[in-house]
Amino acid sequence: MSQNALRLVWIYPDLLSTYGDQGNVLVVERRARQRGIEVARVDVRSDEPIPTSGDIYLIGGGEDRPQRLAAERLRRDGGLNRAASNGAIIFSVCAGYQILGHEFVNDLGKREPGLGLLDVVSVRGEGSRCVGDVLADIDPRLGLPPLTGFENHQGITRLGATARPFAQVRFGNGNGTEDGTEGAYQETVFGTYMHGPVMARNPHIADLLLRLALDVSTLPPVDDRWYEALREERIAAATETAS
Ligand code: GLN
Repeated sequence: MSQNALRLVWIYPDLLSTYGDQGNVLVVERRARQRGIEVARVDVRSDEPIPTSGDIYLIGGGEDRPQRLAAERLRRDGGLNRAASNGAIIFSVCAGYQILGHEFVNDLGKREPGLGLLDVVSVRGEGSRCVGDVLADIDPRLGLPPLTGFENHQGITRLGATARPFAQVRFGNGNGTEDGTEGAYQETVFGTYMHGPVMARNPHIADLLLRLALDVSTLPPVDDRWYEALREERIAAATETAS
């Protein structure tokens, strides 16, 4: 593996990888390789230190207890915060998204500090869990097609002044707030409630991360037929259920 390989870090596969979130790392890796980009993938278990020299970090969702354990270990480790201050690209899903914020409510009902990499705060929703398919429009500044995904969470996430909503829901809950926002981002740190896995349903997000990592504005096209078929099928099914 050359020194110039793109360093892709998948955080805590042993704690945070519900609903196929592992698919995200596979899609980013594959879409890089299809462009002839060499990739060095590192899967970091929760008893290992987080490398600080990664280019792209991915973190998935999880049940409430593993989420607390992951937050404790990530805080103690400090590597992800150092990577972020070096300008790393970080993409997080659900429990991972909540952990990147200032705080969330843990499995013991207590406020648990997050990493403070996103200006968001999560609480436990009072109502029923947010479960089901979601369709949302991604912030036009990011120039991506609509977001399709599956959500399953009790948490509600509110954005502070420095975080931008990642998307605006057409249907589904997303952040679970009245303003209809879904996910958040600031600079190169992203969070979403979408599983699916979200990259398989939205390969353009994987491409966005690659473009940011390589500092290029376009990438050579790749065959998107299977992704498009999946998107069409999921969007049609979800639209039918919603109407
Ligand atoms: N435990 C969190 C919640 O319910 C995250 C769940 C998840 O990652 N799917 O809000």
